[in-house]
Amino acid sequence: MVESLDTISRVLVVEDEQHLADGLRFNLEAEGYEATVADTGERALELLAERPNGFDVVVLDVMLPGKDGFTVMSELRADGQYVPTLMLTARGRPEDVLKGFAAGADDYLTKPFELSILFARIRGLLRRRRWLENAIPPASPASAAGQSPVAGALDATVETPVIPPQTPPIDPVNPLAGAAATVNAGASDRFVFGDKSVEFDALELRVREQVFPLTLMETNVLRYLIQHEGKPVSRKQMLEEVWGLHVDTDTRPIDNFIVRLRRYLEDDPTNPRHLLTVRGVGYRFIASPPEA
Ligand code: CA
Repeated sequence: MVESLDTISRVLVVEDEQHLADGLRFNLEAEGYEATVADTGERALELLAERPNGFDVVVLDVMLPGKDGFTVMSELRADGQYVPTLMLTARGRPEDVLKGFAAGADDYLTKPFELSILFARIRGLLRRRRWLENAIPPASPASAAGQSPVAGALDATVETPVIPPQTPPIDPVNPLAGAAATVNAGASDRFVFGDKSVEFDALELRVREQVFPLTLMETNVLRYLIQHEGKPVSRKQMLEEVWGLHVDTDTRPIDNFIVRLRRYLEDDPTNPRHLLTVRGVGYRFIASPPEA
């Protein structure tokens, strides 16, 4: 099944609360999307198994009867399906956000949310899907899904230079408000380093001739590191200021984001020159690394 870029984008909404599901379907259709609703996780997995390339984006609620959103997410990824997925998490449950990213979610939105924000996130995920399709050589849909670069990125380990830790300055920003502002910004918002550039408002990373669509969270992680160019930032600091999460425990989602970003912007992701690991602290972005 080959889809052209001009076809209507198909969204699978997995939500058991009928008024919410109906409202989402109505608004998605009003925006020109084709919307399908599954009211259980089991039904969603069934639909996705029947039509492996049948959806362009999944909007997946965490709280579902039977299999919850995390289980659906993990089973989908274990099945080699990398359809971009936005998880809907309950307010005040930061552990859900981390669990969602660990399960393979691409992005998340806290309930209740504004429709304009939901649509902005969906558009970001659609750009990512187009890039994945273009990046994968023609093959059967099943094997193509298994070769998603995102899948490999999540498992990769990276050797990085050791940099002595310093005390990073705290820059109190509100990342989520910033994200919304970015989406609505009309003016160009870009950062150029060498032959690369980040287009923050378009959620794109340009490396010479290549364009990599970024998820909103990838863009926010990159923006935060660039704002602190040359200075180490800790994982905890990033969790607090980029994700808005106040937790001390699992910082693995940060590492997954860094691995993915290195795949996009490093010439050799195993020998990063821009996104460096600061052992015992976190990461440091260098715009102009010295010549090797
Ligand atoms: Ca629900």
